[in-house]
Amino acid sequence: MAEKQESNKKSRRGRRSSQPEINIGMIGHVDHGKSSLVQAITGKFPDTHSEEIRRGISIRLGYAATEFRACPSCPAPQKYTTEKKCPHCGTTTKLLRRVSFVDSPGHKSLMTTMLSGAAIMDGVVLVIAANEPVPMPQTREHLMAIKILGLAGTGRIVVAQNKVELVSEEEAIKNYKAIKKFLLEYGVREDVPIIPISAANKVNIDVIIQAIEERIPTPERDPNLPPLMHVARSFDINKPGHSPLKLYGGVVGGSLLQGTFTVGQEIELRPGFNRKGKIYPIRTKIMSIRSELGNLTTARPGGLIGIATELDPSITKSDGMVGQIVGLPDQLPPVWSIIDAEVHLLENVVGAEQEIKVAAITTGESLLFNIGTARCIGTCIGKGSATASTSDAPVLRFRLQPPICAEKGTRFAISRRVEKRFGLIGYGFLVDGQLANLEEYR
Ligand code: GDP
Ligand code: MG
Ligand code: ZN
Repeated sequence: MAEKQESNKKSRRGRRSSQPEINIGMIGHVDHGKSSLVQAITGKFPDTHSEEIRRGISIRLGYAATEFRACPSCPAPQKYTTEKKCPHCGTTTKLLRRVSFVDSPGHKSLMTTMLSGAAIMDGVVLVIAANEPVPMPQTREHLMAIKILGLAGTGRIVVAQNKVELVSEEEAIKNYKAIKKFLLEYGVREDVPIIPISAANKVNIDVIIQAIEERIPTPERDPNLPPLMHVARSFDINKPGHSPLKLYGGVVGGSLLQGTFTVGQEIELRPGFNRKGKIYPIRTKIMSIRSELGNLTTARPGGLIGIATELDPSITKSDGMVGQIVGLPDQLPPVWSIIDAEVHLLENVVGAEQEIKVAAITTGESLLFNIGTARCIGTCIGKGSATASTSDAPVLRFRLQPPICAEKGTRFAISRRVEKRFGLIGYGFLVDGQLANLEEYR
């Protein structure tokens, strides 16, 4: 195992690229300091330079990348830094890996954005403020979301107990114990570290970097699998008044789940257009690829990348392509209009103000599904005929609007309208279904 890791590290170094190799999600309640922690680690306030801010919309996924480095002369944790020169002794530091942070909005109405971010997170930092009761609603909601999407049980979590300078030592210990209890209740592995920090004062940021290095290794990836990218954002990068003769094609942004993309490749987007109930997958070409740390000729998993295409930018503007899957022509997962899903319901609605029991799903009921970065309405049309992997989980049949591109076995989040907003009630596994008819689009 150790040998394998060593050889992985070598091959990583061999393939020098400015692209980050892992996405770390920032999750937690609003105002607990997620964005401040991204800033303390990377030096960039997530989203400051994005299109969204320029247009006055700041509710999208935030993003910032940096290098994790280590000083060869200093001991841990002081040796961990993002600087090229060690802040303690001035020695030139060594690159460990490039890391990107995906920052979730914590506001309760933005759970969908958090869930689409969760689709591209390889591990998470859960930020919990030391000066507030534990748990606050979105602390629970975000942790449950990553748990049902399969992350929490794995232990790829670091907990940051933030704003510790605002409380007494006694209060900090009491709060620490409350966090510990809450994590155990939610099935998080017992050895997950809880690190006291002050993001605003940049205290213990080296300990956070060390914990991420130790707890959230870069997943092993098979570069030979066909490429698959979830589109998390999409843009029209042309400025107003840009000459129509020099228009840039539409840009789709996201993160590769597997495989690689190379400039010049033909790609397909699924489901593609949905026009009058007909589904038209889109074919186009990769004109260029950018990551925050530079232009790429080949992109691999890790970090958000922007792919410039030959598409009309009006198609990609204002996140119009979010939820699409990008891959090679005819090598994408199927597009489903009806699915049979194994349904696992939680006991209580997560994120609700009071305790609300989750009632069974009834025929005719419409629910919100988050599948990858896509979302759709799933209307229950009765029992499914597929067999569940766990004998006691019901299999229900849902009509999807719009149809969704996903592999069989995909896990997805199920939310129900409660208290005038969508609350997480459980998750499903796509077992089988009926394919949508795909039309040729040329
Ligand atoms: P987010 O909603 O979780 O992204 O939280 P922000 O990073 O936007 O921070 C919310 C507020 O908490 C801001 O006013 C920050 O300045 C403040 N804040 C963040 N970290 C700390 C900290 O370590 N100590 C104190 N006192 N305030 C902090
Ligand atoms: Mg924030
Ligand atoms: Zn040093």
